[in-house]
Amino acid sequence: MGLDRVYYIRISEDASIQLILNALEAYSVFHQGKKKAKTCLETYGLLWGHEINLSKNKDTLYSIELISIDTSAERERSFCNPNESALKLKRDLMTSFWPYYDFLGDVHTHPYEKNYTHVCSKKYYNYSTDDFKRLEDYSEYWKEHNYRVGLVLTIALMDKAGTKDPIYKPDNMIEFTLGNYRLWLKGHVLYEDSEENEDSEKRTALKVTDHDEKNVFLDCPSLFGLKTEFTQFGRRRTGPGEKHIPSDILNKIKL
Ligand SMILES: [Zn+2]
Repeated sequence: MGLDRVYYIRISEDASIQLILNALEAYSVFHQGKKKAKTCLETYGLLWGHEINLSKNKDTLYSIELISIDTSAERERSFCNPNESALKLKRDLMTSFWPYYDFLGDVHTHPYEKNYTHVCSKKYYNYSTDDFKRLEDYSEYWKEHNYRVGLVLTIALMDKAGTKDPIYKPDNMIEFTLGNYRLWLKGHVLYEDSEENEDSEKRTALKVTDHDEKNVFLDCPSLFGLKTEFTQFGRRRTGPGEKHIPSDILNKIKL
């Protein structure tokens, strides 16, 4: 069953910066693991903002104002396990002190050290089967927390740095470039769907919108405002040693 209403997901400049800083840290900076330090790790965070009803029982805007990253989440290269206690603590904090920011959902990253063309051909920027299951199989849990929006940020490498303008492909995904990092930010919405069980009893479960959902629009004006680098950005490299080599301008500032 498709959606009978339109959803807009808008991401503020602050939220997009918070997400990019943390996602690239997990991607390019060594994190001490049990056996050895690793890069190219997934990371996980929570979305905070507002739900705005644009017309009676119709279109909805989810405005994401802040993103908090869960430092307690278990980070690995192919998965990231959040700790439930972090969600409880942060919801408690926000509802007590900053109740004008509502919990809207979560975000995680898909880091690939491979060339971006590989990620495109395999469509690794999409939610995985496990991503859908994690939400739809635990409908009751997420309903209690009023989960509404899911984001995924995928990161891969380009052979050379580029200045390609951000593009939509499709309306719920933005592809953008930072130096030689290629990124894709994709938005999904959870909506209630009624289904009948074997005894013809109706129950309402949460469903995640499809990858090419026509009724979900992702809006991140600050990404489209990134027309150029104000100063030269560094480069991500592969091989042993430091992964991100800062630009000369950063070294000059350090002096
Ligand atoms: Zn995923």
